[in-house]
Amino acid sequence: MDDFNTEKYIEQRLQQAMAFLEPLQPGFIDILTSPKKSTVVNFPIQMDDQSVQVFRGFRVLHSHVNGPGKGGIRYSPNLTYAEIAALAALMTWKCALINVPFSGAKGGVCCDTKSLSDNELRHITRRFISELGDDIGPHTDIPAPDLYTNERTMGWIYDTYDVMHPGRNNRPVVTGKAIDLGGSLGRQLATGQGCLYATLRFIERIKPVGISSLKDRTVAIQGYGNVGSSVARLFQQEGAKIVGISDSQGGIYAENGLDLDALDEYKSKNRTVVGLAETMSITNEDLLELECDILIPAATSHQVTSENADRVKASMVIEAGNAPVTPSANQVLSEKGIIVLPDILMNAGGVTVSYYEWVQNIENQQWSLAEVNQKLNNKMIKATDAVIDKWLSLNENLPLRQEDDNAPQAVDLHTAALVVALNRLLSTIEERGIWP
Ligand code: GLU
Repeated sequence: MDDFNTEKYIEQRLQQAMAFLEPLQPGFIDILTSPKKSTVVNFPIQMDDQSVQVFRGFRVLHSHVNGPGKGGIRYSPNLTYAEIAALAALMTWKCALINVPFSGAKGGVCCDTKSLSDNELRHITRRFISELGDDIGPHTDIPAPDLYTNERTMGWIYDTYDVMHPGRNNRPVVTGKAIDLGGSLGRQLATGQGCLYATLRFIERIKPVGISSLKDRTVAIQGYGNVGSSVARLFQQEGAKIVGISDSQGGIYAENGLDLDALDEYKSKNRTVVGLAETMSITNEDLLELECDILIPAATSHQVTSENADRVKASMVIEAGNAPVTPSANQVLSEKGIIVLPDILMNAGGVTVSYYEWVQNIENQQWSLAEVNQKLNNKMIKATDAVIDKWLSLNENLPLRQEDDNAPQAVDLHTAALVVALNRLLSTIEERGIWP
């Protein structure tokens, strides 16, 4: 069995980074290991058939070291507090690495969106937000979309909060809203766009295992939600061939590349990618083990584990989802010479454009798409460079990778990314000082 569980995951990743942190005052790191504030609520909802069902929701503010909390709200049947707390910590690291003035938070409600009507989902969202009360707010903790939530959910969140706090500009209380409600141009595709910008920068500087551009590279993507579908489009526009895609129902494969227009039409009618004409049906497990250049897990955590890592055939794994590769799997991949681009960098485009949305809402502005993407590209390049520079300096005596050089690096990119993020957070803590 793999050694993964979310709490342990955070602990393991911190352990790996610890050895490389700047000298610390005793106790400082502990400030970043336990969540600052956690809220658990149970609330009843009258369902469409008039029965009453109780739902459980969580919001965890991991830290406020670097500004208000920021992070998604997800809807999923098997959510646990431990998982939400771990994902909130990841958000703190992500915000520090990409350098936006937020700290980490995460929330969610245990529910299966596939079995709920729109009406029920609206009731769940409104009641959840009212239960959170002032735990969220434009300058305290700002939610956003995550798994199985979208701009419509964010609209309900905004409206509920606005009704509860009339007479002021409440738009910055939540990001990922529809454009009409103050959403930012570019937010919908932002995570995929940021992933593409960081990948291109990485390829430009490192040329991993001989990859010098995305042109004609074969790509398999696990997950076809907001992140997976935007990554598929954007990588295809750069010339990559998307050969495999999966969702929670299973996967599809087409050796010569998938027709994404046909796929989107099919998915909107059938709510799954499985069964698209002229494709071969595969399982989610098969997808991770496909013969391809680049594997992009863009769904849930804990997908590439010590059990299947050995069968991954891609040369590069891009973590577009949160924590899809376990630390022990990362080690197996690294020993095989497979480079893993870390989640806190590769999916930071979403929270970056969320920050731009928040700024636009505070200023009552609407930036153009070109302006948003230009700013996003600059941020992604800066953060990617910081990770690469740290990675190279931690591996100082090791030469840059050349074509066909499969030698593993001693320190992986996850560790380098986390060292950059933690050093920033720890110096902020030091500068702020401990109160009182
Ligand atoms: N849910 C996204 C994430 O995990 C976006 C968070 C945000 O925009 O605040 O990064």
